[in-house]
Parts: sequence; C-alpha cells; structure tokens
Amino acid sequence: MREFIQRLPKAELHVHLEGSIEPTTLLEIAPHLSHTEVEARYHYENFAEFLKNFGWVAKHLTAPEHYAIATRRLLQRLEEQNVQYAEITLSAGVILWKNQDPAAVHQAVREATAQSPIRVYWIWDAVRQWGVDRAWQAMELAAARVDDGVVAFGLGGDEANGPARDYAQLFAQARAKGLRLLCHAGEVTNAGSIWQALEIGAERIGHGIRAIDDPALIEHLKAKDIPLEVCVTSNVCTGAVPTLPEHPLRKLFDAGVPLILNTDDPPMFHTTLHEEYALAASQFQFTEPELAQLAANSFRYAFRPL
Ligand SMILES: [Zn+2]
Repeated sequence: MREFIQRLPKAELHVHLEGSIEPTTLLEIAPHLSHTEVEARYHYENFAEFLKNFGWVAKHLTAPEHYAIATRRLLQRLEEQNVQYAEITLSAGVILWKNQDPAAVHQAVREATAQSPIRVYWIWDAVRQWGVDRAWQAMELAAARVDDGVVAFGLGGDEANGPARDYAQLFAQARAKGLRLLCHAGEVTNAGSIWQALEIGAERIGHGIRAIDDPALIEHLKAKDIPLEVCVTSNVCTGAVPTLPEHPLRKLFDAGVPLILNTDDPPMFHTTLHEEYALAASQFQFTEPELAQLAANSFRYAFRPL
C-alpha cells in the first residue's frame, strides 16, 4: 500500500506555508529560540491553542528570506512524496499584522518556487476574527497579484468569531478581481458555517467535516460538485473531532461528497500527505482504487488543473 501511495501523482491544495515550518527550520530562522520552547509549541490541547501557536511560529518569519526558506523546505517535502501540483496558502493577514512588505515576501516565495519541479500557485488568506477591514486589505494584496501566481483568496482563522456572511461583499469584490474563493468552514463549528461559506461563493470548503450532520448540505455539495478539503490528522490534533475513529472521512466519502485529502499544517500536526493517504487506508479501509480517486480529485478540483 505504501508503495502504491508513493507512486500516485498527488496535488496538495490545503497547506499553510507558516504551518509547514519544521521545528529545525524554525530554529534555523530564529536561533535565539530554545529547542524545548519550539517543541512545546508543536503540541496543543484545542483549536484556540493551535491558532495561538500558529501565530507564534508565523511571528518569527521576520524577513522575506525566511518565507523563501519555508517555501523551499515545503516543496522538497512535497517532491519526496510525488506531489506534482500545489496551491499553498500564505497568510496575508499575518504579513500585514507584522508590518512586513508584502511585495518583498511575494518576490521571495516566487523565486523559491521557480526552482522546484512542482507547479505552484498561491492562495492569500485573511484572518477572519480580525475583522472585515483588515481582510479587505489582504484581499487587495492578493488581487494585485492575480496574474502573478496568486490564484485565490481565502478566509482562515477562527470561524466561530468571524462568520462568513460578514464577508459577502468582500468575496464578491474578490471574485470580480479574478480571484477564486475559498473558506475554512465546518471545522470546529457546524454545518451552518458551511452554508454561509457557500452563500458567499466559496468554491472549495476548508475541512467542512460537519457537513456530515446535515443531509441537505451533503446533497447540495454533491449537486454543485463542491469539494471538502479534508485534513484528518489536523482535525484530531485540534480536537475538531474527539477521536480518530469518530472522523467522518469514510461516511462523507460513502455519501458521495467530493473529497480531497490534505495536510493543513504538516509538521505542526506531525503528518505528511503520504501519511494522510496511509491513514485513510489503515483506519478507514480505503482501497487502492478509492485512494486513486482521492488523488485524481486533488487535480480535478485544483484551480489550474494540468
Ligand atoms: Zn487550514
């Protein structure tokens, strides 16, 4: 099975650059940190604690070159797993919060991707609990780069404190500027949050696992062919699901909902894309043809498919 998974050409559509920084890379970027301090930040009890630690890691990317290092390392890891296409999420909201120069960061990561055989596009996202005005600034930054590697605009962060409905106008404007639209939803709240994301035009749903609670929503996702970007290990680590066996991956798949497997923040959740496929096989009895279907979906639902 492991060889089969390795051989499968895969695309990674839901991975955050700041969440893909391995502890050793963080120590290289921020040598004043201690090993123990960094290790402690890679474990969480709940979603709020995870968000806090994600912010803590991101805060240490103080120079554009740090973003470039993070990008190169992530692409190396993806290449090792036969990932051929990636849409990487970059938190424009965090760049603004740090008062960094978005153009310099953009240039650094674009140069880093140019050296990789993987086709890479960027999703710039906003931190929804910081409010619409700041998200609007993040969207403008993304829109300015729509012909330069940025393919979509997303909403991330705390869905409980930033309802998608508040972003309806912003999403309409983003779409008008040529950006594709993404929204984390139904990860730690409920199916209603996913309905809101769909209402404002999200074309893929980040996580979306609470769709399992709403048969009408399941039918809607199927009818509209809108996929969920499922990140199983992430959901266990943040407490979005109480235990691994309770994860609805299998049920959603059997219900016919379009699914893509992703990692979210691989080292922060101690996983890889390969491991997520292996987990689907070992814990949820996915067969080789079913895994091949998930891999095919990862290209099918990409914004710039091959
Ligand atoms: Zn995510």
